[in-house]
Amino acid sequence: MRGRQRGWAGARTGLLAAVCLSAVLAGCAAPAGPKPAPAVDGNANAAPVAEIAGQGPDHAGAPPVAPPRLPGVAGKEEENGGEATAHQEEAARRWGLERPPLKAPPRPTTRVELTQGQGVKLADGRPPVVYRVPTEDKVVFLTVDDGDEKDPEFSRMAQELGIPLSTYVSDYLVRENYGYFRDLHAQGVEINNHTINHRNLKVLDYETQHEEICNQQDQLEQQIGVRPRLFRPPYGEYNDDTLRAAASCGVQAVPLWNEEAFPDHMEWRYDDQKFHPGDIILTHFRGVDIWNASMPDLLRKVVDDATAQGFALARLDDYL
Ligand SMILES: [Zn+2]
Repeated sequence: MRGRQRGWAGARTGLLAAVCLSAVLAGCAAPAGPKPAPAVDGNANAAPVAEIAGQGPDHAGAPPVAPPRLPGVAGKEEENGGEATAHQEEAARRWGLERPPLKAPPRPTTRVELTQGQGVKLADGRPPVVYRVPTEDKVVFLTVDDGDEKDPEFSRMAQELGIPLSTYVSDYLVRENYGYFRDLHAQGVEINNHTINHRNLKVLDYETQHEEICNQQDQLEQQIGVRPRLFRPPYGEYNDDTLRAAASCGVQAVPLWNEEAFPDHMEWRYDDQKFHPGDIILTHFRGVDIWNASMPDLLRKVVDDATAQGFALARLDDYL
């Protein structure tokens, strides 16, 4: 949307989004190199990302709220790599994928139980901070942040391919067009909290953080009809006040990320440059003005990479 004349609000949006972009480019992306450092630079609270081999889903967690299912996902009961239907083959061809996306395994009957040190940081009375969901399922989760670019082709592509998305929207970028996100929600996309103004929460006092997070909880409940369970702090920057404030208004988990996706490449946390079961992938609602590529180009890249490595994209809310 940037580059068009939208008056003060549009200019401000563009400026702040550019600030967000540079911050993301400067540090939010997962750096390549020796790990297990988290994807978030300068975050003293960063959780170590440990190997999670052997940690399967635990069925002692809270039962998931029945979410709307994506039409393309409903009824999938096969392992990854099951036969694609003619409809899926056709959709994959139409959107230029190398192959149809792999089918996600049946969703877990309960959400996974999180334990400290499994790419997970836990503290009493705080929502867990999660870089990677402990699961043995060959699934990864695509999360899309901010909300500046509102491309109907992107939502149509995700729906026709049955690709689950978990989005984190900032009010200042979407308040003029919540309808786009209501439509996404109606097709099964999670709409989650990314604060009102996309500020670096770590430099704010508790009360201001509370306003940034909890006012967006209220706003999303009013605009979308569902109070988010998940919250992601802008730039991945947070402190204990962030988690306390989030807990006070209903946030149940804080997903961060292990990979960041761009239309032409993936930034990997691990030197092996591979997905791992339960990896959370970050990307953004951006378009040709920043990427010189479209949201469908981005989604094509992510799905093709996941498929090539034998991973299906799954619904984060089913697991976390
Ligand atoms: Zn953001």
